[in-house]
Amino acid sequence: MAAWIGELGIFEVLALVAGFHVGLTVLCTGVGLLLERIFRHRRVWAVPLDRGQYGFELAGNLRFISVQIIAFTAVLYGGHIRFDEVGDASAIGTFVAVYYSFQIYYYGLHRLMHRRPWIRFHRWHHRSRVTTPFTGQSMSAVEALGWALGYVGLPALLSLWTPLSFAGWAAYIVYNISGNIIGHVNVEFHNPFGRSRLVSVIQPPVIYHALHHARWTGHYGFASTGLDGLFGTEFADWQAVVRRVDGGQPLTSLKQRVTS
Ligand SMILES: [Zn+2]
Ligand SMILES: [Zn+2]
Repeated sequence: MAAWIGELGIFEVLALVAGFHVGLTVLCTGVGLLLERIFRHRRVWAVPLDRGQYGFELAGNLRFISVQIIAFTAVLYGGHIRFDEVGDASAIGTFVAVYYSFQIYYYGLHRLMHRRPWIRFHRWHHRSRVTTPFTGQSMSAVEALGWALGYVGLPALLSLWTPLSFAGWAAYIVYNISGNIIGHVNVEFHNPFGRSRLVSVIQPPVIYHALHHARWTGHYGFASTGLDGLFGTEFADWQAVVRRVDGGQPLTSLKQRVTS
């Protein structure tokens, strides 16, 4: 499947990767802004954005995308992820393997970045207290490098053990990036799994991560609650917050707790 990548020159790979990251970011940010309009009756925070927020978030996005373009180009052009050229590798198997290895890796990375020596690299992402569709990819270059390791470094390691499906890996990257951008909107749109136990392995409501931006000391997981549950870093009231916001009552202060 991925034999064609090996035949491309470095500038062709660079153009392909740049087009992918810029195109997907623009598309998902647009969808996020649209969702914020459609679901404005279900705002998470009735708290204004900070002065100049879109500006510094845009700068963070440019930094993030630049790091990813360099990392993806280096790894794909260098052939460091061993893709299955025959096409026998299961796309679903690859998706699941990359999905869960990223979840575990990100949880560890995120907790590390909340420790004193590393927090300076994570502060940029937390400059956004109320989140927007521009927040997900707004971060420092060091943190963006951490994400690049998850996107292409981990799959390269996995592929030492078994070749990966290009389609499965690419599908996961699209899922991750779109989920990250849209997962930072300031509205709770309908999540069919909302408050079920399934959120320990799949995407919880938007509020779950919104509370991390407001409170800092919990909800470190990416796109699931499982590891926060396991390590005791889940906020006790998050489902009560979902009920409140679903009922059309946004939170009015970043310090607010909700009793059920
Ligand atoms: Zn965030
Ligand atoms: Zn954080």
